[in-house]
Amino acid sequence: TSVTIGSSLIPIINKLQDILAPVGSELSKISLPQVAVVGSQSSGKSSVLEALVGRDFLPRGCDICTRRPLVLMLENRPPNPGEDGTETEWGEFRHLPGKRFYDFTKIRREIQAETEREAGLNKGVSDKQIRLKITSPNVLNMNLVDLPGITKVPVGDQPSDIESRIRKMIMSHIRQEKCIILAVTPANADLATSDALQLAREADPTGFRTIGVITKLDIMDRGTDASNFLLGKVVPLKLGYVGVVNRCQEDINKNRSIAAALAYEEKFFCDNPVYSSLSDRCGIPQLARKLNQILEQHIRIVLPGLKTELNCQMHTIYKELQTYGKIMESKTDLGATLLNILSKYCEAYTAMLDGKNPEMSTT
Ligand code: GDP
Ligand code: MG
Repeated sequence: TSVTIGSSLIPIINKLQDILAPVGSELSKISLPQVAVVGSQSSGKSSVLEALVGRDFLPRGCDICTRRPLVLMLENRPPNPGEDGTETEWGEFRHLPGKRFYDFTKIRREIQAETEREAGLNKGVSDKQIRLKITSPNVLNMNLVDLPGITKVPVGDQPSDIESRIRKMIMSHIRQEKCIILAVTPANADLATSDALQLAREADPTGFRTIGVITKLDIMDRGTDASNFLLGKVVPLKLGYVGVVNRCQEDINKNRSIAAALAYEEKFFCDNPVYSSLSDRCGIPQLARKLNQILEQHIRIVLPGLKTELNCQMHTIYKELQTYGKIMESKTDLGATLLNILSKYCEAYTAMLDGKNPEMSTT
């Protein structure tokens, strides 16, 4: 069940980049769309992102934890032979250049500290991004964005217009055409009241880049289930829905691992007759697969453009080559030309010695 975002595409992209890298740095950077999570506060956005990356490092909790946009820049780097396994994966913050974090718990602490530096200690929110680069052999080159959730009632240091401020902050990220929106709604709320779906629809009216994510399937009201949500019967979405079970607050307090959480999720869906018949719409691995398909589709779309660009470059280089004279294939041709050049050079040199040709003088 170790399907994370990009996992199936990494070998393909690596191969493409191996081919493209010698041609030019611009071409070798295949830029993938970014993925952003939106939804109301505590709907489980950070939990979903973390599970997709497969590492524990985001602040999560029942209070407002994500108070600044966090841009996770994932950067693929294949391990060097003989490299110590613990040193192949690290994080580096834009605000702390050169400092590598190998311990992901310390990354979480630094996100919290940096949030407090800008947004204060008392629930304040800021639209100034925190930028964190994660270098790893297990990721694709792409950006994931964790955003503060919608809140309605100002608490702590929050200004009275907190809701519209957060909406603006979210919209500025998800309006971009290349942004895949994960619209996160907890299963214990009604989809029709979902802030996530409302925002997503505003940013992406045609619904071509919005995936619905239903969290907290484990804590729905007894006697209810999310099958109507997942089947798109309540609010239809072109790309559909995926239901997930992430760690609850107790799991977080007890430091339950991602692997344990994934195993629990799998068992939850297997044991529940309603969800076992909807298995293509359930689970974090399924969400990762869905995202990977969309990314793959994107790569398919950009490939012809890359090919055209490559052909263009080849043509330019070919033309440049022609200005150097005719192409010589055989050794005899080469020899003859060399001889020709040499004898011309000798003539010129003799002429120079005779003082007849000022162009060849060394001054
Ligand atoms: P965010 O504010 O949307 O980023 O939400 P978080 O990821 O910080 O999660 C908010 C709270 O909900 C945390 O206490 C999580 O442990 C809990 N939570 C998230 N997803 C689930 C889930 O699927 N099931 C349960 N039981 N709790 C969840
Ligand atoms: Mg969060």
